Amino acid sequence: MIFRQLFDIQSSTYTYLIADEDTGEAALIDPVIDKTDDYLMLLMQLELKLIVAADTHTHADHITALGLLREHTGCQTMVGQQSIAECVSSKFSAGDHIVVGKLSLEILYTPGHTDDSYSFYLSSDGRSMLFTGDTLLIRGTGRTDFQSGDPRQQYDSLFGSLLTFTGDTLVYPGHDYKGWSVSTIDEERTHNPRLQVTNSDAYAELMDGLMLPNPKLMDVAVPANQKCGNTR
Ligand code: FE
Repeated sequence: MIFRQLFDIQSSTYTYLIADEDTGEAALIDPVIDKTDDYLMLLMQLELKLIVAADTHTHADHITALGLLREHTGCQTMVGQQSIAECVSSKFSAGDHIVVGKLSLEILYTPGHTDDSYSFYLSSDGRSMLFTGDTLLIRGTGRTDFQSGDPRQQYDSLFGSLLTFTGDTLVYPGHDYKGWSVSTIDEERTHNPRLQVTNSDAYAELMDGLMLPNPKLMDVAVPANQKCGNTR
């Protein structure tokens, strides 16, 4: 497997490139529009063909590169079934798989940050990896106070889904604001301050008390992302 963790400094977004070195097929998870040229160059340098670009959810803090990547490469563009974006090639739901050569990403429905939030699970080369979007961050979790967010749903997504994976499963989040790149399920279960609660009511109280400002790009990014990144 070829794996790259790419970073957009403006929005602190991680984008993941996953590819099968045997077939040369590649997928990008959560690509950012401003980085499209970089992705295209990297794909060319590594001699990869992009077949899928997928978003874990409708982002409020950056504009997706899905539409532009499809224009440039002809790749499939995918988002979750609950997303209202009509411009994508197809929509996934729980239990579906995104297949990239011999690699198969299992789709997990993990709502709570938004109602269209998904995580992807990949097991390859003896490694188990979870791409958790904004559901589970390193020592944090994605906010639940807008875009159909729901802290009780997020509690269920965390404790009923993501935290049931084995402790050594690697956690690759959708963002990190301190530069932390990877964690494990065990590490987060033990040290993530948001996960030290015993029930969904306590979690909802914690999340409802955060009082966060809206992301700067929200009014631009959400409508654009519902059109695959088209700002016109
Ligand atoms: Fe988000």
